[in-house]
Amino acid sequence: MDTHLPPPRPRAAGHTADPSAGIYTGPFWEQARENFAVIADYLGIEEHNRDRLLLPKRAIVVSCPIHRDDGSEAVFHGFRVQHHLTMGPTKGGTRYAANLHLGEVAALAVSMSWKCALAGLPYGGAKGGVAVDPYGLSRRELEAVSRRYMQEMIPFVGPKTDVMAPDMGTNEQVMAWYMDTYSMYQGQTVTEIVTGKPVDAGGTVGRREATGRGVVHLIGRAMERLRLNPAETTAIIQGFGNVGSVTAAALVQQGIKVLGVSDHTACYFDPRGLDVPSLVRWTEAHGTLAGWSHEALSDPAELLTQRCDILVPAAMEQVITEDVARSLRCRILAEGANGPTTPEADRVLNQRRGEIFVIPDILCNAGGVVVSYFEWVQDLQQLFWTEPEVRDRLNRVLERAFQAVMARAERDDVPHRTAAMAIGIERVQKAKLTRGLFP
Ligand code: NAD
Repeated sequence: MDTHLPPPRPRAAGHTADPSAGIYTGPFWEQARENFAVIADYLGIEEHNRDRLLLPKRAIVVSCPIHRDDGSEAVFHGFRVQHHLTMGPTKGGTRYAANLHLGEVAALAVSMSWKCALAGLPYGGAKGGVAVDPYGLSRRELEAVSRRYMQEMIPFVGPKTDVMAPDMGTNEQVMAWYMDTYSMYQGQTVTEIVTGKPVDAGGTVGRREATGRGVVHLIGRAMERLRLNPAETTAIIQGFGNVGSVTAAALVQQGIKVLGVSDHTACYFDPRGLDVPSLVRWTEAHGTLAGWSHEALSDPAELLTQRCDILVPAAMEQVITEDVARSLRCRILAEGANGPTTPEADRVLNQRRGEIFVIPDILCNAGGVVVSYFEWVQDLQQLFWTEPEVRDRLNRVLERAFQAVMARAERDDVPHRTAAMAIGIERVQKAKLTRGLFP
């Protein structure tokens, strides 16, 4: 077996041109395609089955007009991509970001499919969002965008069709507005239309913390394998939103020292360790990290390559580039964010496999969708679980996925990402082959 996994081979002669060309574009979509092609080569998936597995089932683009606070009107583009409907409804987050585009949303939807299948959830992947800077909106404007986006999506989503959740730039409150808007149109409360809602609006205990807790659970497993002692272990986290802040707090609870954190407004580094509870309180009060300290301010460009044991990218995609991968000085790369590592960087990480233990995104941040699944199940049954039940079941699902990835990686001598994606893609492929091609 070739353990270096070369770049995917070009399309076979005579095969039709790429049917996604011109529809899905951009470097993140290319990353999703390239990652898929590497696995398809490794699994020996036949050419004629590849497009059926990779190409999204549906892509919806809407315009969302709102009244601004100053009396003017503004229109924002909204997206939703549903990757496949083979195993149940689609499931995935909703992202608000100024430069969001269809290719990015499609790439995230595809990755959600492999993630759900790896975790054994009865879902296909989806993703959506609005091309808007959420930090530039007032609360009233944010509510207007959110309600209008959901209203435009009503014909295309449903508890058994497509279930939304939070992602970058959205939160529990946004999910509550989605649920309320959908329910108003149905004439009844439909809590199961979205997950990641506040507990008092039909959410589950433990969803807000689920992704970060999952990240830290899996870091714990990696530390056991590397025989790292928490009291002597250090961490750095990029991004201090839902995933980053919960991860930081949970690492500190394990006795691990957090040396550096950043968000889009500030970057702090202190070799003696940062006061994470104080940082969490600050962001709860002020929204972002800016203004917390002058002494600990540091250059964000250098954060990822500082020496530490655990590096957690928990903000954006494609931050671990080839150059960064060569310069990394961590033992564990725990991918809290979706798609933080480019294919070129991945090839470097594959060469550095003995030095850096990668927990790939579809495993590392799966805790979020696992507890979203628990929330959906509880809403459908109107029977709610206790926090220990949620945590225990989450840990069991992650444990199973982690062991499966480790076993596959060892059996075939392939990188963790290859093993994780292969398990997910194989499951989707099997389901498609078993169901057959309609009509
Ligand atoms: P969030 O909006 O709560 O937080 C995002 C954070 O990233 C913020 O602190 C923001 O300031 C920071 N950020 C933005 N640009 C940055 C920059 N240039 N440099 C440093 N930091 C920057 O979003 P989130 O829900 O925590 O999501 C973060 C990542 O985790 C995304 O990739 C998302 O897809 C992924 N993810 C989230 C969940 C979830 O349950 N929320 C689940 C799985 C994966």
